[in-house]
Amino acid sequence: MSAPKVSFEFFPPQNLEASFRLWDTVQTLAPLDPTFVSVTYGAGGTTRDLTRDAVATLHKSSGLNVAAHLTCVNATREETLKIADDFAKAGVTEIVALRGDAPKGQDRFTPCEGGFANSVELIEALADTGKFKIKVGAYPDRHPEAASSNADIDWLKAKIDAGASEAITQFFFEADTFFRFRDDCVKAGITAPILPGILPIENWKGTRNFAKRCGTPVPTWLDDAFEKAERDGRSDLLATALCTELCSELMAGGVDALHFYTLNRPELTRDVCHALGVTPKLALQNVA
Ligand code: FAD
Repeated sequence: MSAPKVSFEFFPPQNLEASFRLWDTVQTLAPLDPTFVSVTYGAGGTTRDLTRDAVATLHKSSGLNVAAHLTCVNATREETLKIADDFAKAGVTEIVALRGDAPKGQDRFTPCEGGFANSVELIEALADTGKFKIKVGAYPDRHPEAASSNADIDWLKAKIDAGASEAITQFFFEADTFFRFRDDCVKAGITAPILPGILPIENWKGTRNFAKRCGTPVPTWLDDAFEKAERDGRSDLLATALCTELCSELMAGGVDALHFYTLNRPELTRDVCHALGVTPKLALQNVA
């Protein structure tokens, strides 16, 4: 089995210390030659300027292919397209186009006046600019707002038909969840690549809470495994082993590219990549 292609998600730093952490993460993971790296857009549109600055700086300083996340939340169509234009001016050619979640304090997404009503409208507008390759989110465990699993897949098809060329999934815990979803997408006529989103488990309690918010079911065996590992102080070892195993199962099932949610902490992602045979590419200047 040959090594997979990899890509990494980062979030924009909110202060100086976080900037150093992001840069350390980039320096650690860049030698693994990612296909692209992506930068999130804070919930509720809260990191609009930070995302724009982080994307521009990363693109300029790292030489990596950077995909910028963009949501419809709390902005008019004009404001959202202006940010997309800023991304394009910074040299960015890939956008992860999302509807986004409701801002804090609201229980469901409602478009702001003059804003995009949903992700399909945003994708259509971005596609019309002709400036971007568009990626979108996908939900193997079903999005909490989806009427059914089929409705989720129909909506993903609508997003691809609107101009997206690739989907990245929400994280999931078992390879079969992804395979089932991939099969259903094929049956629905979706031919765009679907990139599994992999969340290395840095902290089980945090991951569990996050899964609950995203509507991602947590298998009982995983709860039991982390309870035992935490008792023995071996959570890191378990997290590396489980994540490597999940990725290996995906690769054995034909997956050739993996997208890691790094949470700006590079060590676990790096160790998993190494275990999968993704090793640092030596820069020419280092061997000459
Ligand atoms: P959509 O796919 O548009 O909608 C989610 C589901 O709701 C659909 O699958 C469908 O079942 C249903 N639905 C929604 N609208 C309709 C409609 N009009 N008709 C029928 N069904 C509908 N959030 C951030 O704030 N910032 C980020 O940077 C960010 N990055 C993400 C990256 C990835 C890869 C993923 C998977 C998620 C990310 N999120 C981010 C979270 C995302 O914003 C939430 O999951 C949000 O609730 C849905 O956004 P979406 O664009 O995927 O939604």
